[in-house]
Amino acid sequence: MIILPGRTLGILGSGQLGRMLGIAAREMGYRVHVYSSELHSPAGAVADREFVGAYDDIQRVSDFARTVDVLTFEFENVAAECAAAAEAVTLVRPAGRVLHITQNRIREKSFLRDAGIPVTPFRPVYSADDLAGFTYPAVLKTAAFGYDGKGQQKVTSEAQARDVFASLPPQPLILEEFIPFRREVSVVAGRGVDGDFYHFGVMENAHANHILDVSRGPVAMEGAPVEIARQVFDALDAVGVMCVEFFETVTGEYLVNEIAPRTHNSGHLTIEACNISQFELQLRLVCGLPAPVPEYLVGAGAMANLLGDQWESGEPQWAAALAAGAKLHLYGKHEPRPGRKMGHLTALASHPDAAAKIVTEARRRLSNPTDSAV
Ligand code: AMP
Repeated sequence: MIILPGRTLGILGSGQLGRMLGIAAREMGYRVHVYSSELHSPAGAVADREFVGAYDDIQRVSDFARTVDVLTFEFENVAAECAAAAEAVTLVRPAGRVLHITQNRIREKSFLRDAGIPVTPFRPVYSADDLAGFTYPAVLKTAAFGYDGKGQQKVTSEAQARDVFASLPPQPLILEEFIPFRREVSVVAGRGVDGDFYHFGVMENAHANHILDVSRGPVAMEGAPVEIARQVFDALDAVGVMCVEFFETVTGEYLVNEIAPRTHNSGHLTIEACNISQFELQLRLVCGLPAPVPEYLVGAGAMANLLGDQWESGEPQWAAALAAGAKLHLYGKHEPRPGRKMGHLTALASHPDAAAKIVTEARRRLSNPTDSAV
């Protein structure tokens, strides 16, 4: 079924991903309804209607779903029962089943392994005895509700793993081998209702304190990560946009670390860098519309995140960053808390490294406007 402009797109979640999707949807003449736990959210500011409720309130989610023609996600921690309730009254893309698998690291990694997709070696941990006989160093993570490094800790021995386990409230955990990776890369891609596959190539992602700091791309337009991403979409029979994140090992293998069943921070640069953004691609695919093959307009792009820390010594010097050649995106969040994603800068160039240089210099100038040294 095709959902044409003029109809209503529903977004579960109301952060920056929902905001940028909402902007793309409004450009194409869709109405936008968002559902989240807060009013006056980044996405709510560009929506026609904001619904407030818990992500496990079946009745409210169902009432919300009734008001939209197609529903998608910008946030994956929505209760499976709510996604199912939404599916009973409207079109949900990607399906609740995809959300259910990807919102829990044990389900996600088991699914991928069983589909023959290379993943970080892992073991589910339900009791302290499950920590015995694993290869250390390892990373102990909560199975659910983890993001940006929250709910995870590196452990160098079984003894340390037992200490960490004992300090945590009882909950399912996952133990993963620590991968001494060469770099982290991601593939933001999409799949249509007919199974057609779209992708933006391979992005290289640098993190700081477990939070994405700078993305540059494409570092390759094809190769193993793209092929693995295609397999992931097919295995999940997913419709919409998702991001597959990888560790590139020192021996050049690609292991899937996780799947985000929605647009991703590493795809923000596509707004300026490509002929179609990840958000417009998400919109078109969930609405059953055709999309072009994603292409880079001038070769490459880079994105630098702006966290709340940037506001520590006052309002950042926006004019200085713009003068350095960056594009500015701010998400309309009022409180610049440390570690909170407030916005991002993007720059274009013929090579990803050149774009990354522009964007990091532009960000540096936010707090050093008159110092032009690189
Ligand atoms: P995650 O929440 O799983 O995306 O993890 C956040 C970050 O922690 C990743 O981007 C990596 O930098 C690091 N990390 C997570 N798992 C591992 C692992 N098994 N080996 C090495 N580094 C990891």
